[in-house]
Amino acid sequence: MRLKTAATAAILLSASALAQTAPDKRDFDREIEAATQSAKTAAGFEFLGTLVRTCLLPQSGGEDASDNIPEYVVDPKKAPPRDTWYAEPAKVFDNLYFVGGKIHSSWALRTREGIILIDTTYPYNSEELILGGMEKLGLDPKDIKYLLISHAHADHIGGAEMIQRRYHPRVVMGGPDWDLVESHPNRYKTMAPKRDIVAADGMKITLADTSVTVWLTPGHTPGTLSYTFDVLDRGRPVRVAYSGGTAFNFVNNTPDPGIRNFQTYIESQRRMAVKAAEAGATVLLSNHSEFDNAYNKNRMLAGRGKGPHPYDIGSEWVQRYFQVMQGCARAAQIRLEQKAAQAPERKG
Ligand SMILES: [Zn+2]
Repeated sequence: MRLKTAATAAILLSASALAQTAPDKRDFDREIEAATQSAKTAAGFEFLGTLVRTCLLPQSGGEDASDNIPEYVVDPKKAPPRDTWYAEPAKVFDNLYFVGGKIHSSWALRTREGIILIDTTYPYNSEELILGGMEKLGLDPKDIKYLLISHAHADHIGGAEMIQRRYHPRVVMGGPDWDLVESHPNRYKTMAPKRDIVAADGMKITLADTSVTVWLTPGHTPGTLSYTFDVLDRGRPVRVAYSGGTAFNFVNNTPDPGIRNFQTYIESQRRMAVKAAEAGATVLLSNHSEFDNAYNKNRMLAGRGKGPHPYDIGSEWVQRYFQVMQGCARAAQIRLEQKAAQAPERKG
């Protein structure tokens, strides 16, 4: 009898260790706390913005499936005031230029044979920030040969149609995000480039001796792209990991498909961390200043002197960025697992 009880206890113990097999035995609150704590520890002082957005602030209710013309497209006077978004452009590395704003980033990678532009801010500010910024920095927008769109949200694809029409670069985007643009003509009014290159995992976009390697990192959107590439800092090669989508804008509030969506997101971050490590990345870039501190770091650059480059944080910190994203996504995923365990009959 005693043996049987011990055996039952052992089975229960291993079942709860396996978590999925006995959800009612799990201590969800403790698991959520542990995942959140892992993200907090990883964030340190470097990635507070990423931590706050993905772990602490309330998440959006889910995916926006509507197809409405944005109000700033219908009436340009409704665009946010310039002083909420304008930032000075900056030469960040020998061959990489920041041409974004206070909140959203756009990056110009210069080569001998032209420019690879990454992300394009909103339709209402891409002309001034990107084209104006390039001109201020001595770059000619006519030299844009490739345009890489990390994902099809208005804050990154906003200037793509205009830039494609004026300068005819090849445009690269993830397949599912090309589909999204084509199926939402109103949502992407004035922003939609014509379908061009569908990104493939590991694809290299090359101009002269510079290549950007494209990685498929679905999660933030199904077609989200991230990148690895090299830049030069005073002649020294420095490796960059570019994280193309961060917040949980997908369906995140119901177990089905939320748990699966978070799993996709977590696996992408795990994989991107490996790609960053393999590339030897010591710089983490994003398309939001909130996540990589670009706006503040650009101002630090001016006072750098002979000191270290403010963006060159070392490979361990680059890894920590992806740990923050994974920890916060896992905490949110466990919350949904808890919800599913509490009301399994309502699943689906
Ligand atoms: Zn987005």
